[in-house]
Amino acid sequence: MRILIVEDDAVLADGLISALRQAGHVADWIANGEEADDVLMQQVHDLVILDVGLPRLSGFHVVDRLRKRKSQIPVLILTARDGLEDRVRGLDLGADDYLTKPFELPELEARLRALLRRSLGRGSNDISMGPLRFDISGKYFELETQPLELSSRESGVLELLLYNAGHVVSKQKILESLCGWDEEVSDNAIEVYIHRLRKKVENSGILIRTIRGLGYLMSYRDGD
Ligand code: CA
Repeated sequence: MRILIVEDDAVLADGLISALRQAGHVADWIANGEEADDVLMQQVHDLVILDVGLPRLSGFHVVDRLRKRKSQIPVLILTARDGLEDRVRGLDLGADDYLTKPFELPELEARLRALLRRSLGRGSNDISMGPLRFDISGKYFELETQPLELSSRESGVLELLLYNAGHVVSKQKILESLCGWDEEVSDNAIEVYIHRLRKKVENSGILIRTIRGLGYLMSYRDGD
């Protein structure tokens, strides 16, 4: 998942970025509310972690603007320990959850997983298609109950295709979900990941089709 961190405390942001990357996410960082508002209009992130006290535009305004634009991106606000009013106000404006500072990273990760599950409309901890299963908390794939060995980028592409099963996913969308601002992935690299993924799911009934000019479509055909 590609996560936007909006936090003006550089040390805290740094810790968040490394924790999220270690958990296999792509993390981008913005230190003020106004820029965050601009970035969120591009709709390339899957979730936003939003501090309340921010320069230029507060976290409240950012979430308020998001919801007024009808954006459904999950929002987790970060508030001060004694910030009851902040928490209530944030949730009333449309944030999905909050975490009080200081917090422990495992709790943050558990809340992110819960938010992502909710945003996908699933209460369960896994998602599957035919013999392919993805464990959302463990972040691993299984094919016919055997672990599927994937690089983190291959896993990112497969996750995106699975979440969008039955729909075409554009190359651009894959690029956006795979890399943050400080990294670059070429179109060719995406083709290589797709090629490798096809080999890994060969003969399982899982098909990753190229839809020319549009992108990729994953589906399952039961071969009896
Ligand atoms: Ca702050």
